[in-house]
Parts: sequence; C-alpha cells; structure tokens
Amino acid sequence: AIEATIAELDASKIQCTYTTAPRTVPEVGSAEMASQKVCSDHMIQAQWNSEQGWAAPTLQPYGPISLAPTASCLHYATECFEGMKLYRGYDGKLRLFRPNLNCNRMLMSTNRIALPAFPPKELLKLIVKLCATDGAKWLPKDRPGQFLYIRPTMIASDPALGVERPKEAMLFVILCCFAPMGNMNGGIKLLASQDDMCRAWPGGFGYAKVGANYGPSLVAQGEARKQGYHQILWLFGEDCTITEAGASNFFVVWRTKEGKLQLVTADLNEKIVLDGVTRRSILELARAKLTSTHGDLEAVEIVERKFNIFEIVEAAKEGRLVEAFAAGTAWFVAPISQIHFRGSDIEVPMVKGEIGAYAEVFRGWLQGIMWGSDGMESHEWGHVV
Ligand code: PMP
Repeated sequence: AIEATIAELDASKIQCTYTTAPRTVPEVGSAEMASQKVCSDHMIQAQWNSEQGWAAPTLQPYGPISLAPTASCLHYATECFEGMKLYRGYDGKLRLFRPNLNCNRMLMSTNRIALPAFPPKELLKLIVKLCATDGAKWLPKDRPGQFLYIRPTMIASDPALGVERPKEAMLFVILCCFAPMGNMNGGIKLLASQDDMCRAWPGGFGYAKVGANYGPSLVAQGEARKQGYHQILWLFGEDCTITEAGASNFFVVWRTKEGKLQLVTADLNEKIVLDGVTRRSILELARAKLTSTHGDLEAVEIVERKFNIFEIVEAAKEGRLVEAFAAGTAWFVAPISQIHFRGSDIEVPMVKGEIGAYAEVFRGWLQGIMWGSDGMESHEWGHVV
C-alpha cells in the first residue's frame, strides 16, 4: 500500500491568478483610506486538512471567502492572526520589520488553539510574494513614510459543529490600507482596567495572538473611549499587576528610591503578556545602546519583571516617574501622558513637551530601520521585499 504523506505548507508550489478588475488605491488622507476596509488587489490563501496536510497555496484576487455556517471558527474562536506592516522607505525600497518574529509567533498561536503547524519560513515567503505583487501599486514611491497593514490569519473551517480539534483550516494573508500613522505626540491617556475585567490570566492564552483575546476586550475599550481615554491599561489580580496597554506593550522609565534610572516592562513568565516584536526590539536596542550614556541620555538599567500600578503611583508622588510609553505595531511608540486609576489621575511627565526622551530615541531608531533612513538602510531587522 502507498503510505499517505501529509504535505507541508510549501510556498514554492504557489498558483497565481491575477485580478482582471484592478481596484483603485485611495487618496492619502481620504476617509476611504482611514476606513480600514480597503484591501489591495490580491490575497494569499492556503487550505489544510488533517488527511492530506497543506494544499498548494494560491495568490488570487482579493474577495470574500466562503464558509459553512457550521464552521468551527464561527463558534469556538478557532482563529489566530498576526499584525505587521509593509513600509515604503525614504530610500524607495519596500521593507518588512523582523517578519520572521511574526511568523514564529503565528505558529505559536496556532499551537495554542489546535490549528495546524507550518514552517514559518514558508509563511514568510507567501507574505513576501503578496507584498511584492501589490506593494508597488498600493504603496507608490511618492508615498515614502507610509505603510500597508498586513494581516496573516488562520481559521478552522471544518463544516461541523463538534467541539473538537479542527480537521480543516484555511490560512489567508491580506494587505489593508490604514490612515498614515499619527505620531500621538501630546501623549495618550489610559484608563486602568477595573477589577471586573481582565484581559489575560495565568493558564490562559494572553500570550497568543488569538481572536478570543480581542473581542471580549471591546466593552472595556468602548467605555474608555466614551470617557475620553485612548486605551485600557490592563491590570491583573489583586495586586494590580501591569500587563499591557490596549494592544501594545507598556514601558515605564522611573528612578528607584536608591536613585537608579530604570526602563521597566512586564516580563513574559506568566504568559499573560504578548511577546511583542516592538517590545523585544526596544529591549534589544536598549541593551545595545543605553547601558552607558548615549548623547544627552543617561544610561538605564533594563528590567523585565512583575510590577504593579501602586509602584507607579508612588513613583509619581515622589517625583521619580520619568516617562511611560506604549509600544506595538499599530501605535508604534506612543508617549503616555496620563493614567486614570481608581478615581485619580497619574500625570506622566514628557520631558520633550510632547514625548519623553527615551520614547523619542526608540522611535527614531525604529523609524530609521523600518523606513530606511538615518543611516539604518541596511540594518538586519529591515527585510527588503
Ligand atoms: N500586546 C497585544 C495584546 C497586541 O495585540 C500587540 C499587537 N500585536 C502587542 C502587544 C504589540 O506587539 P507587536 O509589537 O508585535 O505589534
């Protein structure tokens, strides 16, 4: 008998069908561009089933997908995704930023919700193929400094209501237009989460980029917006451990009571915090460049640990709070100006008026790498498409 082989995801087998109805690229600054509804001409798709493995992936015209109403993802949140950007550089090149980290994280997320494995390198090749196909038209050379948002997604597509490990799945990748990034200068205001809502808990799945983490956060986020805040600062547990800010990682710079300047962010040990690519990059840059004096900037000690909001309240009261910022693909490096916690506001300093000095320097370094400027054109974190 012939032994059945389970096929791996293989980008080299891609079958391409190009659109015959090209779409119009929205004008910069248009409501259409900001709507987050407009995607590029093409998408990547790949089907998997438990008997044959991965079918040949396709590049095909962007359009609706068809699912049975019984599809597992529509009922049991068997879904995960990634968020990355394609950057049009000031040097004219198109770049991804450390895309291997997103592809590895996607594999980790699929593992958490029983979706099929794949070689992360093959996913990266498919992402690059889509970016190379649509990048030139959708991010024209006269739009340096702009980006398209890339959304790789995997869903369980089994047309069966049984609550069990998926036997069918679909991978897709789309490119979506976003409004140019605001610089958030002036700072964002955070509302600390109340005791009745938390984003993630030990033993849960907060460390994975599964859809089930995001839908249930929208009630709190809506409440924050209604009260004039930009995002929720997600606290966990009775000691009000700080985890993340919205869909970004949270950083604070403070001086300890002993006078040491520290850059502090939550550790990943309890698996209640997402291992952000921006977070990781900031920590690596800080370890490389800020453990001794850097220009006007004092050296910092870099600390990943469990910490809580009472420590921030105390540091603010004692004049030891230096700055805070949120870091993630969507909001990039956003200075934080205020945190509302249990009826009081914590005012967060911004020494540069609109932003803190450390947030500013991280933003500058990362921008140079992402958009190929300031001598960072050939940095190893920039993946030219
Ligand atoms: N935390 C959460 C919950 C997120 O969804 C994101 C966005 N992926 C981040 C942090 C930031 O991660 P990254 O820097 O990889 O975008």
